[in-house]
Amino acid sequence: MGKNKKQYKKIGIMGGTFNPIHIGHLVTAEEALSQFKLDIVIFIPTGDPPHKIENDTASAEDRYIMAVIATSSNSSFFVSRMEIDRKGKSYTIDTVRQLKEIYGRDSLLYFITGADAILEILTWKDTSEIVSLCKFIAATRPGYDLSRIDDLRKRLFGNINAAEKKIYIMEIPALSISSTDIRGRIRNERPIDYLLPEGVSKYILKNELYKK
Ligand code: ATP
Ligand code: MG
Repeated sequence: MGKNKKQYKKIGIMGGTFNPIHIGHLVTAEEALSQFKLDIVIFIPTGDPPHKIENDTASAEDRYIMAVIATSSNSSFFVSRMEIDRKGKSYTIDTVRQLKEIYGRDSLLYFITGADAILEILTWKDTSEIVSLCKFIAATRPGYDLSRIDDLRKRLFGNINAAEKKIYIMEIPALSISSTDIRGRIRNERPIDYLLPEGVSKYILKNELYKK
């Protein structure tokens, strides 16, 4: 990631399960990079849930590898293992604090989320500290009501003007693609081509992920 990480000043953070990573994630990250003139975007896959129940979540290692495959050709995209390698339950605040330490006090962190995910922010631990350490870029996503983000701003900041600098709304070409839909397609033996990078669909096939 370059010799001196402190050289990067504007850093996009793309958190998610990435189960699996798809074109919607990549377009969102690329658009944020361009619209907000970010230096890099770091994809941070979540770790395995502490009590792994039988479900259709691929292992953290598989999700990490797929993210690396998907981002490898983009010189501004990186994947971090910090949440995967963290012991115990992982909180967003720990990730944000760790990134501030790595990239320096004067770095600007932009947390990139889909319009659905930002609405979950209030359920995060230490919301006010997160909000003091990073800005948010909420990407439009089909089926999500943006006026709910205004309500969220009011709840978090009281007045909309102050909030404007903290939560940006970013228009992206609507991509009604989700990991849930892709997993469903695999189970039902329907095509997944062009919804995710070719290398990722080949990896899924080779390792027989999401078949049951
Ligand atoms: P799942 O269906 O399993 O929830 P997902 O497609 O929502 O998967 P996540 O890993 O949950 O993917 O999402 C990571 C981040 O990417 C979230 O902030 C989410 O809102 C955003 N995101 C995912 N898909 C899109 C999309 N098509 N357009 C815009 N943002 C997206
Ligand atoms: Mg999701």
